[in-house]
Amino acid sequence: MSKPNIVILGGGYGGMITSKRLEKFLKSGEANITVINKHDYHYLTTQLHKIGAATATDRQIALSIPELINPEKTNFIKAEVDTVDTSKQEVCLVGGERVPYDYLVIALGFEVETFGIPGIKEHAFEIRSFRSSKAIYHHIMKQFNLYKQDQDLSRLTFVVAGGGFTGIEMVGELVDALPKLCKEHGVPFEKVKIVAVEAAPSVIPFFPKQSVEYTTQFFEKHNVELITSRKILECTPEEIRLENGAVIPTRTVVWSCGVKGNTIVKKFSLPIERGKVPVDSYLRVKNMKNIFSIGDNALFMKNEKSALPPTAQVALQQAPVCAKNIVAAIRGEALTQFEYHHKGSVASLGTWAAVGLVGSVRLSGLIGAFMKQVIEARYLFMLGGPALIIRQHLGVSHEPVKITVKQ
Ligand SMILES: Cc1cc2nc3c(=O)[nH]c(=O)nc-3n(C[C@H](O)[C@H](O)[C@H](O)COP(=O)(O)OP(=O)(O)OC[C@H]3O[C@@H](n4cnc5c(N)ncnc54)[C@H](O)[C@@H]3O)c2cc1C
Repeated sequence: MSKPNIVILGGGYGGMITSKRLEKFLKSGEANITVINKHDYHYLTTQLHKIGAATATDRQIALSIPELINPEKTNFIKAEVDTVDTSKQEVCLVGGERVPYDYLVIALGFEVETFGIPGIKEHAFEIRSFRSSKAIYHHIMKQFNLYKQDQDLSRLTFVVAGGGFTGIEMVGELVDALPKLCKEHGVPFEKVKIVAVEAAPSVIPFFPKQSVEYTTQFFEKHNVELITSRKILECTPEEIRLENGAVIPTRTVVWSCGVKGNTIVKKFSLPIERGKVPVDSYLRVKNMKNIFSIGDNALFMKNEKSALPPTAQVALQQAPVCAKNIVAAIRGEALTQFEYHHKGSVASLGTWAAVGLVGSVRLSGLIGAFMKQVIEARYLFMLGGPALIIRQHLGVSHEPVKITVKQ
């Protein structure tokens, strides 16, 4: 009998951990594993803001997928998924190639939600992928150079839209990075303005009151102008317009106001609810026995009304259960129900501070930053054991990340 083909779409948090667990759980020769990802690197999505501000090296954030997988057990295809033909059980790649599957895992992640606000898609920057984050850094450099020619202060005004988790992390990174970048490039830092705009009455409203206060004070201390209770109505290449009529001249808007599931899944002729692929308690796509979906593009209802949020924590808890269930399905054994256990959240404010809640313990400042490092190291451990943690911290891989970014 031929070996079943397990095909994983997406080499992000969910996809990579599913493949690593399958490598572990499957007996030799029991099934073929294939990972398909757009790029030959796996980026640490939770740290992409560091690429935008250049506070981490490329290789600290973008890890070579061929180096992460066991080539004897997993086949890697660098390609963009176009669609899935469920009737023929084939994945169609951009370029026409087709990859047959017996079991499919859809882990294609998220897209940025722009809510149809004019100009956001065209002119704002997104922290969505390694490439889109790198584009922020190149744009800052370009504005520095142009400022030296025309002294237009809007080039030194950096707006972060959205005071949620990702937004405050981006602000924190800019606070860390800009003084150094200004010095390196001969730009007067005293002329730089960082503006955070949030539509709700405060930043991170879902965090404890003390964390909100800590973040607000952190912004004040670092001269970040915080504008709350104001929606952005329009973004142009030269300014943003707010709902009270205020106009902020700026050439750089980083949009961090929300995410939605990768819209590509709508092409797969699978059920779609709330823009995502609904899954049952075993993480199988509804009414499908051999298609699983995890992470940001999956809709897992925790109760009748609310779904699990799009977080790495969810993807990383789903991946091992997904791998386990595929192995069980191959062996004709009972599947395991997925249960989510929220462990807490920690948001960084640059390298030396963070706010968050782990269990019932509230963290802030340096201790928070330390906990953030522990969380990131834990992920590296899941992905590649202690060897990967050491490799990443020593910066052993110096091979540049090959990407093309509009500069
Ligand atoms: C700046 C930032 C900070 C965050 N911080 C946290 C945090 O502290 N804690 C937390 O829990 N969550 C955090 N998140 C959310 C978290 O990163 C996501 O929930 C998580 O990455 C979801 O994992 P995933 O596997 O579903 O998708 P991803 O990790 O996004 O992976 C999707 C993969 O699919 C690939 N792909 C997409 N389309 C195609 C295609 N057509 N063909 C081939 N490949 C494709 C992508 O290249 C990518 O490799 C943060 C997110 C951001 C942006």
